[in-house]
Amino acid sequence: MRCSRMLLVTLREDPAEAEIISHKLLLRAGYIRRVSPGIYVYLPLLWRVLQKIINIVRTEMEKAGAQECLLPQLQPASLWQESGRWDTYTQGEGIMFALTDRQQRELGLGPTHEEVITDVARHLIRSYRQLPLNLYQIQTKFRDEIRPRFGLMRGREFIMKDAYSFDADEAGMKQSYEKMYQAYCNILERCGLSYRPVQADSGAIGGSGSQEFMVLAQAGEDEVLYTPDGQYAANVEKAVSLPPEPVPSPFAQPEKKFTPNTATIESLCDYLHCSPTQVVKNLLYQAVLDTGLMVLVMVSIRGDQEVNEVKLTNAISRLAGDFQGGQVLKLTIADQDNQNQWASQPIPWGYLAPDLPDDYLQKQPRLHPQFLRLFDETVVRLTHFVTGANQVDHHWVGANWGQQFPAIQQTVDVRKARPGDQAVHNPQQILESARGIEVGHIFQLGTKYSQRMGATYTNEQGQELPLVMGCYGLGVSRLAQAAIEQSHDDQGMIWPAAIAPYLVMISVPNMQDAAQVAVAEELYQALQQAGIETLLDDRPERAGVKFKDADLLGIPYRIVPGRSLAQNKVEIVTRKGRVSQEVPVAEVVRFFRELPPQ
Ligand code: ATP
Ligand code: MG
Repeated sequence: MRCSRMLLVTLREDPAEAEIISHKLLLRAGYIRRVSPGIYVYLPLLWRVLQKIINIVRTEMEKAGAQECLLPQLQPASLWQESGRWDTYTQGEGIMFALTDRQQRELGLGPTHEEVITDVARHLIRSYRQLPLNLYQIQTKFRDEIRPRFGLMRGREFIMKDAYSFDADEAGMKQSYEKMYQAYCNILERCGLSYRPVQADSGAIGGSGSQEFMVLAQAGEDEVLYTPDGQYAANVEKAVSLPPEPVPSPFAQPEKKFTPNTATIESLCDYLHCSPTQVVKNLLYQAVLDTGLMVLVMVSIRGDQEVNEVKLTNAISRLAGDFQGGQVLKLTIADQDNQNQWASQPIPWGYLAPDLPDDYLQKQPRLHPQFLRLFDETVVRLTHFVTGANQVDHHWVGANWGQQFPAIQQTVDVRKARPGDQAVHNPQQILESARGIEVGHIFQLGTKYSQRMGATYTNEQGQELPLVMGCYGLGVSRLAQAAIEQSHDDQGMIWPAAIAPYLVMISVPNMQDAAQVAVAEELYQALQQAGIETLLDDRPERAGVKFKDADLLGIPYRIVPGRSLAQNKVEIVTRKGRVSQEVPVAEVVRFFRELPPQ
């Protein structure tokens, strides 16, 4: 391609709308243009990158035995009602764009395709002989993200590859999952990215196990906790660890004490000269269930620890059956204003006890009349602990479960693991933290969708059984930007060769110089004939401008027919590391043909 013929508009200044470097560079180098929040035009250069990624994804999917198809983006509400996800995806934190057509039928724009594919499976898969089966597609997804940001990282319209596997049993599903795991590793390696697979929370998709593929980069929205021995890595949303041992309690005698102005753990520990590991902290959360019911959740956790709200949401959802609810639509920590809406006698925060009586809640139609009391694992073994007394400026010290407070029947893990904690698999290993960009997420779904939607097959013995499913997402457009976030310098992008829009850029320093132009044209033709994708910068610009643009665009190799033409040589500059070498004109094609694989 000739730059003079291309829609190549580069910006010198950082656009105000961009916060992270990859987003700034994509805008500055003319790869994307924003139409509205979270909605972008993929300009020709980016489209080439996306096509490269798609080709790699496609070959690895086919290699793993998956077949490509294309599913509709407009999906009827009825399918989502069958799976029970219509409400969670359209209300509360819902991310599905929903609409009503002229016949008053409700539709959604596909944020994901479990329902549609399960519908296909229930109609077309009959027998174990058709299994295993894996179908995938590469397509635009729509999500009404509340905070679209960082360019392609969190768009409202973006390209995803999604695959769905169907197996006869759990063991088959695990094999299909392993194949996809390997395919994802291959894809990310071939794209030239440094990544890490991590254990992940399964979220609203559901199912038993899941892993995310994180591209490691400082600007990543996700935090990953891992151990140096390589045995453990998990998204912080999912991570587990051993909490530090509690310091022994100095309070031998149980006693309700006057503790003025001790609403925070810090002020309380200062006042009592004790360690936060001896405090039982009691927090109130408001959980709105998909039935519209609000449940107040009292979480008791050790004073030095924090609540992981993803784990808490999952724990409440698991118990929501007790309240005729299926899932948590919204979880918020209750503040003092909230309290005034449902408390019969508000108590200042910081003084609540684990046994706060249920009659503290005023009777209200959409409010569950009892607390859901959850005890984190960290509090159960504490003895002679400190906690609130349901009275302002007072705390219990030296309290025990089964004495001053009811014995704990059941515990949950809702604690946030932190860097510095000991690992569960080996306490010698200390968790470390890294930032990552989630580019892929693979799930062992099991029979959640097949059961709800009646997708079954007949086994060898003639029994009808639900299909065992897996699903596998990969953010193609997010991956493109993640590559830049991971690979750039202060001058611009540095594309890994495998996904660069072009491999080579010929920058002619002076278009008035006939010798330079002649060699550039000759090389341009020869390289293209050799199948090497080449950009020719034949614009009538100054050399400085062209070199700046070449750096900004991040094309892996730049050829400059300049001073060394006198010796019949050109300069070849590698974008990464800016290594420059002189190569005889006649050997340029061979140079690129013989590049080591990267
Ligand atoms: P996130 O946690 O980042 O919101 P998710 O868990 O909702 O993502 P999945 O439903 O697992 O994502 O989707 C599969 C993949 O699609 C993700 O791993 C990510 O690469 C990509 N993806 C998801 N949401 C977006 C988005 N808004 N913009 C661009 N890519 C996205
Ligand atoms: Mg995810």
